Amino acid sequence: MRTMKLIESGNPILREVAEEVIDFEEAGQILDELEVLMREQEGVGMAAPQVGISKKIAIAEGDDWTVELINPEITFYGDKVTIAQEGCLSLPDLYLWVPRYRKVRVEYFDREGNSKRLRARGLLALSIQHEVDHLDGILIDKRGVTSDALTSLETSTEGANTSKADKTDSSVASGSNSPPGLRLHRHHDRHTKSV
Ligand SMILES: [Zn+2]
Repeated sequence: MRTMKLIESGNPILREVAEEVIDFEEAGQILDELEVLMREQEGVGMAAPQVGISKKIAIAEGDDWTVELINPEITFYGDKVTIAQEGCLSLPDLYLWVPRYRKVRVEYFDREGNSKRLRARGLLALSIQHEVDHLDGILIDKRGVTSDALTSLETSTEGANTSKADKTDSSVASGSNSPPGLRLHRHHDRHTKSV
């Protein structure tokens, strides 16, 4: 068995769309090792590209659930979006406010190759969206904003649509990656963990 390590943040594998899994036996071994590394790093999720394996394999964790995802696809998004601070083990020391759907449904395969479906909410839903993003080569720096940018965004959305919004960071909201119907709602109570 190989010994897994997180790859450097500049490694292009992190920005690539991962390959579909065909060999489920190998996927099971990768999941075992990913979980060990995730516990070591005290993360609440981990995806194979983070260790340099460009395959659609990830673990997502919520308050009560840990789910192993192979070839996952989010097939339903609830209509509510929450913005919370997120970190990523592949981008050390970067914490951004990232909008995520509060509820999602994900379809995936387990390590036996069975087709599964799961409805998730809260932290698990967040973690699933973060991990599925990893498998699509999307990191939080393409989704989130800094605290400063969020503050100007909140200010600008409270008033009329002035040019102030245009002065905020170019990646802020209204960008193509922001989910529609974003309602700004900060979560201060969550202990920020990296995924
Ligand atoms: Zn991550």
